[in-house]
Amino acid sequence: MRVKLCLELADNEFDAIVIGAGTAGLSAGAVLEKFGASYVILDKKKEIGVPVRSTGAVSLDWVRRIGMPQSKEIVSAEIRSMSFRTDKGNEISLSYDRTVGLVYDFTRYEKYLSREFAGPLNVRLETRVLDVNGNTVNTDRGTLSARNIIFAAGPQSNFGKKRSRNEVLVAYEEIRKAPPRADHQMVLWFSDRAPGGYFWDFAESGNSRKIGVCYYPVNGRQPRDVLKEFEAEYPEIQGECLSTMAHQIPLGEPDTTVVNGNYLYTGDMVNAVLNTTAGGLQGAFWTGKSAAEAVLSGNPMEYQGRWDSEIRPWLLKHHNLHRRMHRKGVKSISRLMTLAKLMPMSVKKKVFGGL
Ligand SMILES: Cc1cc2nc3c(=O)[nH]c(=O)nc-3n(C[C@H](O)[C@H](O)[C@H](O)COP(=O)(O)OP(=O)(O)OC[C@H]3O[C@@H](n4cnc5c(N)ncnc54)[C@H](O)[C@@H]3O)c2cc1C
Repeated sequence: MRVKLCLELADNEFDAIVIGAGTAGLSAGAVLEKFGASYVILDKKKEIGVPVRSTGAVSLDWVRRIGMPQSKEIVSAEIRSMSFRTDKGNEISLSYDRTVGLVYDFTRYEKYLSREFAGPLNVRLETRVLDVNGNTVNTDRGTLSARNIIFAAGPQSNFGKKRSRNEVLVAYEEIRKAPPRADHQMVLWFSDRAPGGYFWDFAESGNSRKIGVCYYPVNGRQPRDVLKEFEAEYPEIQGECLSTMAHQIPLGEPDTTVVNGNYLYTGDMVNAVLNTTAGGLQGAFWTGKSAAEAVLSGNPMEYQGRWDSEIRPWLLKHHNLHRRMHRKGVKSISRLMTLAKLMPMSVKKKVFGGL
């Protein structure tokens, strides 16, 4: 990688300030750390990886392709077998002779990114960014300045686009005490009770599983109630609740502009992730890393170039698939599943295993 950094720093001026210590901010920080840039990552939260923001499921092909961490200590389960179902009885189930997906222990995964992946990162927690003006970042703990600002503040932050109700899924997950499933490590159910989203059951370590639901909040119902109603019909997902998490998943069209001068926008702020096939974490990691690489090269527009040529087309492909899948609710999903069943098994495995 070309590194063209001006190393004589003005007082207190960093090469980059990263706003947000989620996956996007930490992957940016890892690149900046590795190549010796001066940077700081700011986050309002108290602890890395808390609150939990994600089920943590990622495609292993993608993990390898973009260099996400694979260390055993941060993986709570490996996915080798998966099933996509509708509550009308349609189903596609696939088993592999290799691991195709990982389920991260989210807190350990983010702590690992912040401490071990590229060495300890320069993170300042409990620091809320109030506004950004030119090269200056105003926080509730003072003012800093940098030649580049990487925004990695997540969905619906005070710096991101406010998305409308039909562009954001509400998501709710419980870690439940329940033995591992005998059949699959990942099951998704599509249902009109979760418009635009689905119910899920993911393997976790030991005797627990991750059970959740996401959907466009068009019916005004609480996710906890929607999940309760679903489990009454699917007792296989029942179990004592050990912990809960709730957050939002942006799901509109990915943004077109991610660089504005020396401001670079990453992660859920611009990704509009496609959760149906995972992707939020890899999109966040990929954009954070690409933004930091562009900063190091001295040309932020390199990130825009990669966004235009690689990242956005990937997101858009999934976005369009999601729109097609959910156009007429579970009816259109059933139709696509019927078509998918006609694919040769090798193609089906490639398509579903490498998303
Ligand atoms: C329930 C649920 C399940 C999911 N499951 C998966 C999955 O299995 N696989 C997958 O790939 N994706 C999944 N996703 C999506 C994935 O979690 C997100 O795409 C990803 O975490 C986004 O990372 P990010 O770094 O962009 O944002 P975030 O992780 O949201 O990080 C943003 C950070 O910015 C900080 N911040 C915001 N504003 C300020 C401010 N003003 N000052 C200082 N700090 C600030 C926040 O505190 C936060 O730490 C899931 C999401 C949800 C909600």
